[in-house]
Amino acid sequence: MKTIIGLEVHVELKTKSKMFCKCKAEYFGEKPNSITCPVCLGLPGALPVPNKKAIEWCISLGLALNCEISLFSKFDRKNYFYPDLPKGYQISQYDRPFCINGSIEVNGKKIGITRVHMEEDTGKLIHAEDSSLIDFNRSGVPLVEIVTEPDFETAEDVKTYLKKLQQIVRYLEISNADMEKGQMRLEPNISLSGSKKPYKVEVKNINSFNFVDRAIKFEIDRQKKLIDKGETPIQETRGWDERKNQTVSQRTKEEASDYRYFPEPDIPPIRWTTTEISNLKSKLPELPDEKLKRFKKEYGLSDYDSEILTREKSLAEYFEEAVKLGTEHDLSPKQIANYIINKKISIEEVLPAQLVKTILSVKTITIDESKLDREIDEALKNNEKAVSDFKKGKEQAIMYLVGQVLRKIPGLNANLVKERIKSKI
Ligand code: ZN
Ligand code: MN
Repeated sequence: MKTIIGLEVHVELKTKSKMFCKCKAEYFGEKPNSITCPVCLGLPGALPVPNKKAIEWCISLGLALNCEISLFSKFDRKNYFYPDLPKGYQISQYDRPFCINGSIEVNGKKIGITRVHMEEDTGKLIHAEDSSLIDFNRSGVPLVEIVTEPDFETAEDVKTYLKKLQQIVRYLEISNADMEKGQMRLEPNISLSGSKKPYKVEVKNINSFNFVDRAIKFEIDRQKKLIDKGETPIQETRGWDERKNQTVSQRTKEEASDYRYFPEPDIPPIRWTTTEISNLKSKLPELPDEKLKRFKKEYGLSDYDSEILTREKSLAEYFEEAVKLGTEHDLSPKQIANYIINKKISIEEVLPAQLVKTILSVKTITIDESKLDREIDEALKNNEKAVSDFKKGKEQAIMYLVGQVLRKIPGLNANLVKERIKSKI
């Protein structure tokens, strides 16, 4: 039985305003229904105006995921009834998404990116004990959906992909992708080969990497048991129940035709020229994979160090700034990398210049312990008289031994060497 996993990820963009109106997009912590207008409330007659920045960011993400960009694109209405959607439809993209046919490398495997498209977020339902409340602050926030091919076979690869995707959107500075705030939401679809009929189970709206991992493992197990019994798992949408630590059935899966997609009549189609797209491409920052490769090559760092230092763009930039300052004082990139990683330096609290100063001040007492021990043993062996003098109570004799060691390893703190010799005699 082969496991087949695909992913849909929704990422909220951190543009100033919402997707189709002037309301501000940052809604976290705001008073419910305080950031709304006729457009994002879906009042009759209100007209949507697309946010150009959001579309450019969607395309930048597509480019970062090696997609082809559609020069002709449009928005469509995805019709469904749910109270969080007062219009009765979501403005999304159906057959002409902005970006298609991309790919990304995950643990040495190539994962296909089917599409990256733009849509609007919905309102938020808050379920109380015997009623539900709706907050429309989130309604109309720019949302990018990234869909992969069913190319994953393990939960581990899914996790690596998700971390990488989060890292990329953060590098692009188009979203903080903070899952606790709902800025990145994950939907794996899972099926196993070997059933009589084809099927697909989708798990909706998961908000942590760990839960995705557990949901996938739970589903593999659940579906395998059904197939072993000769049954075909039902094609459905399930949810992740944090408390029960399992997926639960929510609804049997809709087909695309259930949504009655049709072109959004209030927004004209969108056209790009190849020049505009290559302009967007030239503005992409150096992405995590490239940066990691460069750190290894340019600074001679290990995979491990490079991976840690490029995990966040801000840390990578901090490191490079410190390296620049450090070379003036003969500090190697490796020394700086070690210090940042081992001491878990907080880049908000220590400026690169301060960091370099600190490394220089501790450099003299940074000692190669095994070398020091070797030299002390050597000194003790070759100077038996001094050792026995010291044992007889001649305190001064030890300073001679210290001198012997310092001749071999200059720059060490004499007291430190003295204490170390004492402990050995
Ligand atoms: Zn609005
Ligand atoms: Mn969607």
